[in-house]
Amino acid sequence: MLGFISRKITTLGIIGAGQMGTGIAIVGANTAKLNVKIFDHSKEQNSRSVSFIDTWINRKISKGELKSGDEIKAKISHLTDLESVAECDFIVEAISENPDAKFKLFRHVSPIMKQGAILASNTSSISITKLAACAEFPQNVIGMHFMNPVPVMTLVEVIRGLQTSESTLKITLELAKSMGKVCTESQDRPGFIANRILMPYINEAIQVLNEGVASKEHIDTTMKLGTNVPMGPLELADFIGLDTCLSIMQVLHREIGDSKYRPSTLLVNYVNAGWLGKKTGKGFYDYKKKI
Ligand code: NAD
Repeated sequence: MLGFISRKITTLGIIGAGQMGTGIAIVGANTAKLNVKIFDHSKEQNSRSVSFIDTWINRKISKGELKSGDEIKAKISHLTDLESVAECDFIVEAISENPDAKFKLFRHVSPIMKQGAILASNTSSISITKLAACAEFPQNVIGMHFMNPVPVMTLVEVIRGLQTSESTLKITLELAKSMGKVCTESQDRPGFIANRILMPYINEAIQVLNEGVASKEHIDTTMKLGTNVPMGPLELADFIGLDTCLSIMQVLHREIGDSKYRPSTLLVNYVNAGWLGKKTGKGFYDYKKKI
């Protein structure tokens, strides 16, 4: 059995270069000063991730918060082979919220990782214990749930699976701290803390829209001004990604088995139409520029 070997984390691997993976790469390189290797199976997504990092750097420079992006760029490599990422000391999986795709990836990547390396998942809702059961070393698997946008949001929810070791937990908490994050710890239950509470709220807002109770603008303004949050629920759903919202609701519905978690048919229809929110340019609102 592959056991844990205590050592310093110097290389951070990220699988999935979408909005979350790219954000984790930025804080890994900029705040924790780690060398980051990031992989996505889509070439276009790798290019989008590079442009996103450039845009982030330019914004920081224009605000006077960064002198140059050279150091960050030198620390982040976008790779086209998964094997090179598998060499890292700590890997964060941030691929789409699809249980079967994540199980498959864990089966594929864990046997080629180096001894003692940690495999964390940024999943929003999928059981860490189930993911760990697909890995060759379940004691080194953990949930590390960053919030979106990663460079801005301070929270990381840390989730221990049934077999996660104390050392894996300790190293994960230390890594998150070195990235400037504050951690909360959750039991391994569907949706953990954040999405168990947030997603039914978003789903209900979509249902309120579906039933014609109010327009999207009135729903968002009511919740924004009425509960003092920066974004209304529909705007937030577009920002998160409607595919991600639907996958989380499906996990909550299936795993908890209560009909109150049934995804709104409007959410299902939007995802079927390919209207996934900001990342595709259309969701509940229209976005001219893709991110
Ligand atoms: P995204 O759609 O922006 O990115 C997902 C990326 O994974 C895509 O670039 C896709 O090409 C890539 N991918 C899919 N399968 C792959 C595979 N087998 N190998 C390599 N790359 C693969 O999604 P995201 O919003 O970045 O979400 C990623 C993960 O983070 C999900 O598990 C999601 O639940 C979680 N998460 C999302 C948010 C959010 O607000 N969007 C917040 C916290 C956690």
